[in-house]
This record gives sequence, C-alpha cells and structure tokens, in this order.
Amino acid sequence: MFDTLSDRLTSVLQNLRGRGRLSDADIDATAREIRIALLEADVALPVVRTFIANVKERAKGAEVSGALNPAQQVVKIVNEELVGILGGETRRLSLAKTPPTVIMLAGLQGSGKTTLAGKLAKHLVGQGHTPLLVACDLQRPNAVTQLQVVGERAGVPTFAPEPGNGVGDPVDVARRSIEEAKRAQHDIVIVDTAGRLGVDEEMMRQAADIREVVQPDEVLFVVDAMIGQDAVSTAEAFRDGVGFTGVVLTKLDGDARGGAALSVREVTGQPIMFASNGEKLEDFDTFHPDRMASRILGMGDVLTLIEQAEQAFDQEQAEAAAAKIGTGELTLEDFLEQMLAVRKMGPIANLLGMLPGAGQMKDQLAQVDDKHLDRLQAIIRGMTPAERDNPKIINASRRQRIAKGSGVAIREVNDLVNRFYEARKMMQQMAGRFGLPGGNRGSK
Ligand code: GDP
Repeated sequence: MFDTLSDRLTSVLQNLRGRGRLSDADIDATAREIRIALLEADVALPVVRTFIANVKERAKGAEVSGALNPAQQVVKIVNEELVGILGGETRRLSLAKTPPTVIMLAGLQGSGKTTLAGKLAKHLVGQGHTPLLVACDLQRPNAVTQLQVVGERAGVPTFAPEPGNGVGDPVDVARRSIEEAKRAQHDIVIVDTAGRLGVDEEMMRQAADIREVVQPDEVLFVVDAMIGQDAVSTAEAFRDGVGFTGVVLTKLDGDARGGAALSVREVTGQPIMFASNGEKLEDFDTFHPDRMASRILGMGDVLTLIEQAEQAFDQEQAEAAAAKIGTGELTLEDFLEQMLAVRKMGPIANLLGMLPGAGQMKDQLAQVDDKHLDRLQAIIRGMTPAERDNPKIINASRRQRIAKGSGVAIREVNDLVNRFYEARKMMQQMAGRFGLPGGNRGSK
C-alpha cells in the first residue's frame, strides 16, 4: 500500500536536491507534481486542494534557515502537512472511568470487523486488559462462529446468543453483554455489529440502536483501504447514520493506491486509530500519523524499528557487546547473540524496509534471504566455545568437520572467519575515529 505514492513523492522531492534558493515558479512546479501524485493515489480532491495550498503558502513564505537547505525545507513542510492530514497526534483509546469501557465496531460487510475484533482483543490482552467480545452480527451466516474462533485465538471469551433461539435480537444481545461484562469483571467490551455489502438504512438504524443501548466510549468505523474512493462516501454515510469516534484502516497490506483511506480523517474529522495489515491477529498496530507520513515520504519508519529493537534487545547484553566492539574483543559468540536478537524482530527484509530510502531498494530487498543467516548461525553453533572466542585456532580438519556438521561448504566457513576478522578490524578503526572507549587500544 502507498508504494506508488511513496515512489512519486520521493522522486518529486529528490528533484529538488542540491538546488539553491527556490523561486516561486520552482515551488509551483513541485506543488503541481505533488498534486498529481496525490490524485493518482486516490486522495480525495478537497483534501488534495487544501494540502497543496498549504504547502505552497508555507514553502513560499519559508524563512531561509541555517539548518536546512531549500529542498530539505520543502520536504519538512510536505512531511508536516502529511502528518496533519493523517491526524497529527497519535490518538489512543479513551477508557471509561468506571469499567467496562465499551468499544463498538461498525463498517461494511467484508471490511474486516470480525478479524479486527480479534486483533484488538489480543492487543488489549497484551496491555493487561480482560476484554469480552460480543457477537451482534446476527445477519451474516457464520459471523458468530467466526467471532468465537478469533476470540479463542486471542484468548478471550465471546458473548453470543444461545444457539437454537432463532436469529436473536442484536440490540438485546448488546444490552445483556454489558450486564455479563460487569458480572464477570471484564474491563472492556468489544461489540461486533452487522455490516451490509452497501450502506443501507436498516443497517444504520440497527447500529444506531445498539449504540443507544450500550452507550459506547468509542465507536470505531472499520474501513477496507482497498475500496478506493468509496471509502470516503462510506465514511460520510456512517458518520451521519451512526456516528463514530475513530477510524480503523484495514488491508493496508494490499497493493491498492490507498489514498482514499488517507482522506478519511480529513473528510470526517475523526482520527485514524489503528491499522490492520494482514489476516493474522498480529498484523495490527496503533496508527501513528508521523510514522505513516515518514513511511510514505520514503524516510523510513525508524521509530517503529527502534520500538521493535527495544522489545527484542537485552539492554545489558547490547551494552556489553558495544563495549567489546571498541576494544576489538568481539567474538563470534557475541556476534551470534546479536544476530539472534536482531532476528527476534522479524524477517530481515521487513526490518530493512523500514529504513530511510528503502522504497528505492525494493528489488534488492525482495532478494534478502533469511536462510543465509540460518547458515551463519549453524556454522557458529558448530564451533566450540574456544573456537568462537578465537576463530584463528580452527585448523583445516576442524573447518571440514564444522562445514559437514552444519551442512555447508568449507568455503562458507572460511568466508565467515575471514569476514569476521575484517569486520573486527573495521570496528577497531571506526572506534578509534569516533573516540569510542578502547578504540585506540584496538588499533595498535
Ligand atoms: P467483516 O465482514 O467486516 O466482519 O470482515 P471479516 O473480518 O470477516 O474480514 C473479511 C475478509 O478480509 C476475511 O477474509 C479476512 O481474513 C480479511 N481481512 C481482514 N483484515 C485484513 C487485513 O488487514 N489484510 C488482509 N489481507 N485481509 C484482511
């Protein structure tokens, strides 16, 4: 999602690089290209108009700053305006003062509501909450079972009408679910409602009735980012028919243009709170306007990367390794530990994809193969602790044994050892240059 938009914007902004002062005509030309990129990505016209007008006005009035050259200044303005249309600040769920907090989901059939209910439940369980899922989608065959299945996967119970009692009344189920939540001390209730393939009055009325009965703290409008311009009109219909307090974008993993979804916040005035990017329960995250803007501008998603790193890394272990880098005492054992920590963060190509400029390396990223790392790990694991400390002691017959044991060619063992020494030398030199502790000692 957003790949084309990202490519276009990156190249427009790159054209400005290395330029001195920008004339008004330069800014107009750049604005025109940005406008085309946004329209091609399906961003709604009124949103594009405001965006372009703001960028132009700010770029023309920009003070010449010591820190940024004119091109960087335009990038900064475009980034800030993009963060603005995406909602500015990250908006968190607002929880009720007296539990249970009630979160109601609304949206068209197929938008991903039921899946989202499971994702949200899992996310909240991770934060120490005890959610209850409520099945108020009694229209679609199997919707109740589907909700029960995602609930089980997320490890939370589902409140549903007893089977055999006919279709049941969703408003009544909603009312009873709140009593059940209080009785069983669930601090959050997530109400899944029925959707239709298109907006219709009866669906809106039912959703509004459920809203009336459960008095939700949040109503989340769930919208499939792949439906293009319809996302905006559907959002308007739900805003007028049911009302909502936040938006969830789903299917951001699809390769549609996605701009319509990006317009929802600006058009309805309600914040995008979560983003779904896959069918698995883990494929879900809080929506951060600033990170999304950086990603779209090809500036990478360094903050997400840092957060993942913080979760994966053992601080003490990382500090110990950093100290050893400076002294040139880093061993293959340390290397293995670091590699395992990095790999806990997910497939390497995904990690690299979050780095600035990754948009232009798509083809190379597609070739990054974690199997190569599996092989390196196997080789290091095949060594004795003494060999990991000092690979120089590995003689020809041991190299053969290690290669055989780890299922690789001897050449790969040799490569690893040679590259390890090269890397160590480089680290010592860098440490010397940047004045890291021990750097001088290592380079003698
Ligand atoms: P509902 O009718 O609104 O309850 O929608 P469902 O939760 O049943 O989802 C409809 C389909 O979309 C299902 O096949 C889901 O697996 C799929 N789906 C939901 N969210 C995502 C997502 O973020 N990415 C992708 N690729 N598929 C999704």
